[in-house]
Amino acid sequence: MLDNFDHLLKKYAHLLVHKGLGVSQDDYIQLAADIELAPLARLISQEAYQAGAKKVIVRYQDDQLTRIHYVGQSVETLTDIPQYRIDESNDLMNKRTKRMSLRSSDPNALKGIDPEKISQAQRATSKALKEERLATQANVVSWLVAAGAGQAWANLVFPDLEDEAALDALWDEIFKTTRVYEEDPVKAWDEHEARLQTKADFLNKNQFDILHYTGPGTDLKLGLPNNHVWESAGSVNEKGEVFIANMPTEEVFTAPDANRAEGVITSSKPLSYGGVVIDKMIFHFEDGKITKATAEEGEETLLKLINDNDGARQLGEVALVPHQSPISQSNIIFFNTLFDENASNHLAIGQAYATSVENGAKMSQDELNEVGLNRSDVHVDFMVGNAEMNIDGITKDGEVIPVFRNGEWAF
Ligand code: ZN
Ligand code: ZN
Repeated sequence: MLDNFDHLLKKYAHLLVHKGLGVSQDDYIQLAADIELAPLARLISQEAYQAGAKKVIVRYQDDQLTRIHYVGQSVETLTDIPQYRIDESNDLMNKRTKRMSLRSSDPNALKGIDPEKISQAQRATSKALKEERLATQANVVSWLVAAGAGQAWANLVFPDLEDEAALDALWDEIFKTTRVYEEDPVKAWDEHEARLQTKADFLNKNQFDILHYTGPGTDLKLGLPNNHVWESAGSVNEKGEVFIANMPTEEVFTAPDANRAEGVITSSKPLSYGGVVIDKMIFHFEDGKITKATAEEGEETLLKLINDNDGARQLGEVALVPHQSPISQSNIIFFNTLFDENASNHLAIGQAYATSVENGAKMSQDELNEVGLNRSDVHVDFMVGNAEMNIDGITKDGEVIPVFRNGEWAF
């Protein structure tokens, strides 16, 4: 076990509760945690009550059990989301319950299961729990996605290490990238947030009309909507309370205009989607839509994602992350979007965050669609950044301003 592990885990729980989710007096908290992370879930619950939470609701998830259910249940059963589950979710949203998701997922948990079965089950859940999803994506409630080390995940990331050493190595990376080793992690995050915000401010001031990506296998022109808003680490909920939606985070992001993408872009890292690893993807775009997509690994799953979900042919997020980000420097492929997306420039297929345009959180779904923000039941990030990537910002007047050079911020 890592030196001082218990102490570090406590510091981590404190950081997630206070700086991450921003727990305050009389809050309802919903914590979804992988079962391997029970010790951390207990610490977080304790911290949350100490911070004044009224009630903490913990729901454990178990990848192995999920797999057993997929094998044992028919598609009809998997897609039949019971009304009591929907009522519970809506009740929690009415209480403005803050949501924390603590994952240690095995990226290959569902390998070999019929992709059609997975796709249908995920679509049914996503549709049934739509209110919760929309409230989260529009920052009506505070939410946080963070990670803890799990054995199957650790073994995939560190295949040359024995079980215990792999688990330690993964915890070490999690603590490093979330700044838990700093004397005062909360203060370290305050400083990190401020640094990222200077990048967002520059991009917001320039209001680029187009971002032009060039690099090996990539030449893409991506339109940005009017009044788009670049955001970074810090977010604000409906009540004006601050939170950080992802820990770690290194990205500055907004939404592209879903109807304006032209050219080709090549992925730079694998991604795990629906329990399957997809790697070496190439996407061709016309009028904002994916006209062709290929992958060397997991292509069937990728094509199902794009073909079977409304809005999955268009993009909903554009995010900038310098190639020399701490996560990228670790040179580790995590097979977990929370980490890999923070090592690399990325785009997301599907749903855009309502907050990516001014006043977006107050707009209806139709209004968001009209201003160019893609609407979809899915949101899947894929990584495109590398050390050779250049990005130019093109203004409405045609002025070209370097945004990225050789994978790094150009300003
Ligand atoms: Zn992102
Ligand atoms: Zn995303």
